[in-house]
Amino acid sequence: MANVETVLGPIPDTELGSILSHEHVLVSMGNDIRHYPWRFDLERTKHNAIRELSEAKQGGIDTIIDLTTPDLGRAVRYVRDVAQATGVNIVVATGIWRDIPRSFWQRDPDETAEIFVREIEVGIEDTGIKAGAIKVANDAEGVTPEAELVLRAAARACKRTGCPISTHQWAPKEVGRRQVEIFKEEGVPMDRVCIGHSADSTDPDYLEELLNAGVYLSMDRYPGVPPRPEWQARNRTLKALIDRGWAERLMVGHDYAPMPILQGQPDPEPTTTRYLFLNTVALPALREDGVSENVIHTMTHEVPRRFLAG
Ligand SMILES: [Zn+2]
Repeated sequence: MANVETVLGPIPDTELGSILSHEHVLVSMGNDIRHYPWRFDLERTKHNAIRELSEAKQGGIDTIIDLTTPDLGRAVRYVRDVAQATGVNIVVATGIWRDIPRSFWQRDPDETAEIFVREIEVGIEDTGIKAGAIKVANDAEGVTPEAELVLRAAARACKRTGCPISTHQWAPKEVGRRQVEIFKEEGVPMDRVCIGHSADSTDPDYLEELLNAGVYLSMDRYPGVPPRPEWQARNRTLKALIDRGWAERLMVGHDYAPMPILQGQPDPEPTTTRYLFLNTVALPALREDGVSENVIHTMTHEVPRRFLAG
């Protein structure tokens, strides 16, 4: 047994239950919620997040990995309130997403690694809330020079702490391949790495090439918004990898975040939360396709637990 850091403190990995691999509780690009707080109704936004995650908890979700970085508007006190109110375990992240602040562009990877390690070992800001994952992101532009510095910093922070790395890749352009190359160059143990948004690719050969390097894949972004593959196509790719024997390295998620509610804007319609799309639609369809309960349990419980706990 090992402990995993959550926003409410460490818990034994045996208590993580069913885990979604890649989600968000609150996203605010450009950190608008801090800079222009008068635009947002954060109390109602939080109320809605609590409603959705309570519903997720009732629908069988015990833990989510919240991969929101500072440049995505990370707000760990807000996430702590939501975890307290819902009983969902929420693992929060250090690292940087696609909007790499200019201050990072020239910073030596070792110095950036110090920042990530501080958030893993001491805590985020002055909250004492420790990061349980390191997030990095490379989209259609590939791995730019400044993004490469962030990847190398993430690799070094991972090697020092054992904290796992979860990536955003643009899978249709096979950007995960370069991420894996860099992590290999840095000597990261590959079982500490998860290449994310992998279900945006429908090519099992490409994904198997990544798996052969020893990493995990997050098959997320369910249900899929066009022009990205829709959920049936995601299921087909996932099933192809399961049939090739890779269930022990696959985890699933939605990359979902409830939208911030603006001042004066009505509350969103209380529809079924998207945190439950896998449990209510995609996983039942996989079962109908002949995927065993055992394999589903592996992908929703065992694999992400191992990824988080090491
Ligand atoms: Zn995400």
